[in-house]
Amino acid sequence: AAAHSFQTINPATGENGRAYQGHTVDQAISIAADVHREQRDWRRTPFSVRSDLMKNAARSIRNNRERYARLMTDEMGKTVTDGLAELEKCAWCCQFFAERAEEFLRPIPQEMSANHAGPKPPPRAFVTFNPLGVILAVMPWNFPFWQVMRFAAPHLMAGNAGVLKHASNVPGCALAVEEIFQEAGFPTDIFRTVLLSSRDLKPLIEDPHIAAVTLTGSVAAGKSVAATAGAVMKKGVFELGGSDGYIVLEDADPVAAAKICARGRMVNGGQSCIAAKRFVVVERIREAFERALIEEMRQYVMGDPNDPKTRLGPMESVHSRDQIARQVSQSVKKGAEILLGGEVPKQPGAWYPATVLSNVLPGQPAHDDEVFGPVAAVISAKDEGDAIRIVNASHFGLGAAVITGDTARGERIAAEELDAGAAFVNENVRSDPRLAFGGVKDSGYGRELSDFGIREFCNIKSVLVE
Ligand code: NAP
Repeated sequence: AAAHSFQTINPATGENGRAYQGHTVDQAISIAADVHREQRDWRRTPFSVRSDLMKNAARSIRNNRERYARLMTDEMGKTVTDGLAELEKCAWCCQFFAERAEEFLRPIPQEMSANHAGPKPPPRAFVTFNPLGVILAVMPWNFPFWQVMRFAAPHLMAGNAGVLKHASNVPGCALAVEEIFQEAGFPTDIFRTVLLSSRDLKPLIEDPHIAAVTLTGSVAAGKSVAATAGAVMKKGVFELGGSDGYIVLEDADPVAAAKICARGRMVNGGQSCIAAKRFVVVERIREAFERALIEEMRQYVMGDPNDPKTRLGPMESVHSRDQIARQVSQSVKKGAEILLGGEVPKQPGAWYPATVLSNVLPGQPAHDDEVFGPVAAVISAKDEGDAIRIVNASHFGLGAAVITGDTARGERIAAEELDAGAAFVNENVRSDPRLAFGGVKDSGYGRELSDFGIREFCNIKSVLVE
């Protein structure tokens, strides 16, 4: 099949940016073969070598931060302030795994004396973590550098290699990530980008040079790639959508709660898998909370994403913006009330304002589905038990939070009650290299980051020496 061409569009203006010529499927498979060849040597390099290179990668990210932040703004509309923060987090992640990977992957001795009978001493046994090989990473546009780095930093440190298929609207960022590893001095073929459309991905997933896949993106994309990978018995990690519910208990300070909630909702213009999406508020403080939430959300004024003062840039595309507008208007038709925003401005580009919806009920898209934009949905709950039930009733299970004046109460709910891969108390959910990240239910399976994440693409091998 012929190569696809990738035309970028600046979401702030609607104007075409640079176009990139893609790879053919044959070219992508040949790149996978090159990466596979390189990985066989890479897996034998000592941690100290990998660690030095990964620290170089952190340096390279920091050195190019202005240029990379601008690239994100141009391709997917991220504010320059958010872009710089994202790049700093990427550098931290590289640094973190450069320093900690060896410890996370140190062989673990196994206790063999229990149930051991006979005159001979028990055998010696341990578990060791060998890299699986070449990992295909299918990544989304919303954090064009972070999503890739949180995959690449641990797994390259583990001795794996990467082939990146990024989202079609961020080809410049896709190539920039490849450049980071080249500039850092990694072997040329340890991390490569292929510019492919998702329509052309199946033969690459099936290609024998690919050992495993990881996908961050929508549930539909995850299910499709998981099915293809499963049919050829390849392991996968899937970080999919979310509709994180935040419980606001009656003992919370409504103003402090609204600050945490607005911050959680407005991460990246609301376009984050772990953005706070549903605010499940105990009825007794609902009105006070709503008033405070409106005040907080009002602070996110739409503006030029290149201006460092801007807190809300455009959505990723007009298509995505229209989807958000549709979800809001359908929710309103079914009884939701607009307390702030909700109107698409008449100007070119993919703009959508900070919006607050009240009286959000089952059957409304704002209640049942993921709204990938700056829309806060307030859902009323009778009490703690009702709030837990509502948060858990979602088909997603990525993040969740509890906001309360009683941290012990919050901790119990977070640790024992919430069906999510992460549950935070009095703080908005965020990813952190030190914490395992991932979901349950439709939010996917497997974990990224931390010691749990780095082991996902290792062969956990038992070795016994008699
Ligand atoms: P998306 O459409 O699923 O795209 C994600 C990636 O998957 C892109 O590279 C895309 O390639 C590819 N893709 C899409 N459909 C595919 C298919 N049928 N087969 C193979 N690959 C396919 O998602 P998005 O709109 O970019 O991102 C938004 C979604 O991602 C939201 O649901 C969000 O919650 C989720 N997300 C999850 C996390 C997490 O960590 N859990 C983080 C960020 C985002 P093309 O661009 O070429 O189609």
